[in-house]
Amino acid sequence: MYMNIPKSHPRYLSLQIREKLVSGFDNNLVAKEGLLAHGRGEAFDYLIGEKTTKSAKDAIKAASIMLNQAENSVISVNGNFVALCPKEIIQLAKITNSKIEVNLFYSSEKRKKAISNILKKSGAKEILGMNKKQSTKLKGIDSARRIVDKNGIFSADVVLVPLEDGDRTIALKKAKKKIITFDLNPLSRTAQTADVTIVDNVTRAMKLLISESKKQSKKQISFDNKKNLKITILEIQKNLKRRAKNV
Ligand code: ATP
Ligand code: MG
Repeated sequence: MYMNIPKSHPRYLSLQIREKLVSGFDNNLVAKEGLLAHGRGEAFDYLIGEKTTKSAKDAIKAASIMLNQAENSVISVNGNFVALCPKEIIQLAKITNSKIEVNLFYSSEKRKKAISNILKKSGAKEILGMNKKQSTKLKGIDSARRIVDKNGIFSADVVLVPLEDGDRTIALKKAKKKIITFDLNPLSRTAQTADVTIVDNVTRAMKLLISESKKQSKKQISFDNKKNLKITILEIQKNLKRRAKNV
């Protein structure tokens, strides 16, 4: 398909991911703004070398323990996440006993339905965030983005919010939730606000989070997110220095 790039090259995978987003957009799963967010993510993926870093692996371990220890964990899903890894979302929810809630930055009933249909096709039984009667509001955030499900995010102790906007992450923190995120930009507000930030492409990191969660580890670990983000930035610096030599 991409004549000049061998299949084993990480760039090949990145281009395949890009196509998934484009077809997600054509199928009404992904918002226009979601394509832009993806572009931002791709740029950071380049900087980390299109592979899972050591600091991301450490964050994945911490995230799996946090999910295993949660009383009521919720996986928040948006169009980009579902376009990229629907099967993995269902798998992770099963293994960690988490609920799934559709929660969109740019809300649209049509897109919500499309997202819920894909998840159901992939094997999900219950999708929260679809029933207006069950919805309530988060404080500290403007109107369209504060709606959450009473039985989902509203009553959760741990929320996994991939590719999330900073305003919402801050509002979720104010509501005393423990936050896990996938975010390729270690400097975004979400990355800086979450309790565990996995700076990796969600397509690679979800697979690793699933296999880590299968271990069902409940051991206590101390995880310092800010410290880990600093390590990520140093990894990026190192990677760029190495590549600068070959320019
Ligand atoms: P913030 O609001 O947190 O300050 P932002 O406004 O720059 O960040 P948003 O569009 O709100 O960005 O959030 C989307 C985030 O998702 C971006 O930081 C982007 O880098 C990241 N992202 C995009 N695609 C992926 C992906 N495939 N895997 C992981 N992260 C991704
Ligand atoms: Mg934002």
